[in-house]
Amino acid sequence: MARLPFIAGNWKMNKTVPEAVELVKELKESLAGAEEVEVAVAPAFTALYAVQKELQGSFIQLAAQNVFWEEKGAYTGEISPQMLKDLGCRYVIIGHSERRQFFGEKDETVNRRIRAALSHGLRPIFCIGETLKEREEGKTFLIVESQLEAGLRGIEGSQMERMVIAYEPVWAIGTGKTASPGQAEEVHGSIRQKLGKLYGHEIAEKIRIEYGGSVTPENVNGLMSQKDIDGALVGGASLKAESFSRIVRFSQM
Ligand code: PEP
Repeated sequence: MARLPFIAGNWKMNKTVPEAVELVKELKESLAGAEEVEVAVAPAFTALYAVQKELQGSFIQLAAQNVFWEEKGAYTGEISPQMLKDLGCRYVIIGHSERRQFFGEKDETVNRRIRAALSHGLRPIFCIGETLKEREEGKTFLIVESQLEAGLRGIEGSQMERMVIAYEPVWAIGTGKTASPGQAEEVHGSIRQKLGKLYGHEIAEKIRIEYGGSVTPENVNGLMSQKDIDGALVGGASLKAESFSRIVRFSQM
């Protein structure tokens, strides 16, 4: 079954508001007519409102980079699912390895964020992936499976259509080292298999699994030609309209 390719740009802690608006203006121009791919951008929280205004009428979707699980209250510095909905976000990145590495994110908190996001109608981009040490110790499949299982605890099959999984080997993020198409496909295939065990074949076949980790215009075609790779989560190369739109237009390169 054909899954709509999904390319998302994670801008991380980059771009002031005017810079973010400028980038999105350029993207609207360079991505005109590329609607056969779903595209999202994830600016910093501070730029969401301005980017959303600029995106009015465009097919480009808005994503946030994180979300808290509580609805409101005394949680200084946090952002609730409803606040993201108010800003027009459709997607939210959850469990990114930088959150796990620098901000104490654990499988259990990832799961709470995913459940809160889904219950407010947001679509999680749920990130999983092994470190270099784990890969070298031959634990890749074990780690990815256990992150998947823990992150999806309590989530029903009927909610899974709104879920995107991002396989992001930690050793490939921001390092310039990409997993080869074969290496990535091996893990994507195992993720789909695991999803099949958890939710059945039909649902597993519908879920989009993105690859993330130093995706560039030069390597995107090889990755996207793999059977279980349905898109890309792009960091560094999403910060310039030229490289991001070349990635979105992968099939035409
Ligand atoms: C990311 O941040 O999700 C990412 C994949 O970054 P980069 O493309 O820079 O490796």
